[in-house]
Amino acid sequence: MLEQRIISSSELSKFGPVSTLNEQAFALVKQQRETWELVRKNYEALSDVQTRSFDFGHFKIIAQHNPGRIRSSAAKVDSKSISERPCFLCPENLPPEQKALNFQNKFLILVNPFPVFPVHLTIPLLEHRPQEILNFFPDMLELSRQLEDFTVFYNGPQCGASAPDHFHFQAGNREFLPIENELETLEKNHSEVLVHKRGLKIFAVKNYLRRFVCIVSSHRTELLNTFHHVYSSLPEKNGNEPMLNILCFFEKEEWRVIIFPREKLRPSHFYEIAEKQVVVSPAAVELGGIMVLPRQKDFDSISNQIISEIYNEVTLPFPGFEHWIKSFLNAYR
Ligand SMILES: [Zn+2]
Repeated sequence: MLEQRIISSSELSKFGPVSTLNEQAFALVKQQRETWELVRKNYEALSDVQTRSFDFGHFKIIAQHNPGRIRSSAAKVDSKSISERPCFLCPENLPPEQKALNFQNKFLILVNPFPVFPVHLTIPLLEHRPQEILNFFPDMLELSRQLEDFTVFYNGPQCGASAPDHFHFQAGNREFLPIENELETLEKNHSEVLVHKRGLKIFAVKNYLRRFVCIVSSHRTELLNTFHHVYSSLPEKNGNEPMLNILCFFEKEEWRVIIFPREKLRPSHFYEIAEKQVVVSPAAVELGGIMVLPRQKDFDSISNQIISEIYNEVTLPFPGFEHWIKSFLNAYR
């Protein structure tokens, strides 16, 4: 069953070079666009998607009007709704047209049929078990190292993941999220350096509508160790993992891991009635600077002020963020 799902290298090589995982991923996207109508249509639609850019001085937020994302943005992720639907990431429930790459006999690499990025992957664990990053963070580093033209991202179970019951990453092509181009300037002019020693830098950015911490390192063990400290100093939520979104990419032999501690799943705007409602489900993509809005009305009426309110509400607020930095540094030193 699973063997039929995984595309053979001879089939894949018809769609481009396949000597690295990175190349295989691009070839898979081509293959799926040619053989799966839904993918062909949705990627074509993405090429003339409407966007609006909102300037915030030293950074910008891009609103993307993407009707195909409605099921994700409005997804019910409470445990009752989740238990009543078939899991769309379990291998046996994937559509027949969907083909996969095998990553270390542990994950499938799939093309996301409802893209936000021009090249958008979903990377589910083979096994059905909940979204919980700690044990899989090493895989995130390895995936981002091998998928060098992608940013790999993780959404916590109550932080925008539409399948909180089935562990998965996603990946999108590099240089698409505004944060990637803004990171150097943010680091230089708007950051507080928490740790800087040989092979490791950790800095925090606070004046960015949302607050985040970035770990820069070329040493896997150093990074794993630091991530554990970050994770365990964040507030737990009802016995579950701390609320967070993570972006990770590998460039010039270094990883950059950007961690956004969260406060809430959805902003109050989501729960407003009628005209005032904004259907938005902030996750790693939104925190990276692309606000996905499935509804035309929301796209037309969104403003700098509403964007500020949404980002401020869903991410860890200033006092909590300061407090967390203190406890992180205490544990780390
Ligand atoms: Zn599943």
